[in-house]
Amino acid sequence: MIKTENQAEDNKSQQALKKPASAAKKSAAPKKEEPKDAKPVATTVAAAPIAEVLIEPEKLDVEKDVIKEVPTEEEIVKEFKKTFDLVGWQPKTSIGKKIKSGEIKKIDELLDMGQKIPEIGIIDALLPNMNIELLMIGQSKGKFGGGQRRIFKQTQKKTPEGNKPSFATVAVIGNSDGYLGVGYGKSKDTLPAKEKAIRKAKLNVFKIIRGCGSWQCNCKTPHSIPFAVEGRCGSTRIKLMPAPKGKGLCIQPECAKMLKLAGIKDVWSKTWGQTRTTTNLIQACVAALLMLAKTKVKAESYEALGMKSGGLI
Ligand SMILES: [Zn+2]
Repeated sequence: MIKTENQAEDNKSQQALKKPASAAKKSAAPKKEEPKDAKPVATTVAAAPIAEVLIEPEKLDVEKDVIKEVPTEEEIVKEFKKTFDLVGWQPKTSIGKKIKSGEIKKIDELLDMGQKIPEIGIIDALLPNMNIELLMIGQSKGKFGGGQRRIFKQTQKKTPEGNKPSFATVAVIGNSDGYLGVGYGKSKDTLPAKEKAIRKAKLNVFKIIRGCGSWQCNCKTPHSIPFAVEGRCGSTRIKLMPAPKGKGLCIQPECAKMLKLAGIKDVWSKTWGQTRTTTNLIQACVAALLMLAKTKVKAESYEALGMKSGGLI
């Protein structure tokens, strides 16, 4: 025992002796290298591991920031309602000017013509009761099979300067009465990504066709969809089917949030492919909803299915 302890002490003392020596060498090395041209290669090699060590705390800081900056839904709605006032709005496009003067009173006049919405103020003015929701498309980094779900999807690009993080999010805007918009925003920071997503969602507002195509219900009121539709994005495929009254939204939770804002109350669904890619699943669901408007329906079945396009109120 005594010998081993002595040995351990000897080792420690040797290590202690070595450390200062090595440190002294490091500190002494640059001074020697400066005059000579041959040795700068050695300095660059030595500098690389130090840089890597320095980047790691930055990564941790970024993750902490994300947790802090994630805004609640109430905050988003408050911001949205505060920012717009019709009197102070200065439209930049000819359609915007017509809306302010009162020439165009309904959003249907634009959407039925196939006219694109050129300005976000148009949606704010014509559809004042819109609600915004950010969908959970990302997740925090965690051990044991991933972390908590987040509204921002965080990705990183490796560059010589270090890791460049970027944030993406999907915003859904709807009035629960036949109008829906979905937008994808990506930026270097969380707030601009959110603003981009909401802006794109407003510019992509479209009409939802509702009805009751369920053979179990046959009530002719627009609580579900009139017929089954399918949409796809990448390998992800989703099928929406009409359900009887009171069934609820039998679908993935993020798509359910979207359908709720669209005003659809009952639906059945089936999916194929890589459905864990939430962005693709959402896009597939939007494609399916757009297919409702693209499908041609006979005038008789239009009445039998209780089909209604857009808002009812
Ligand atoms: Zn029904």
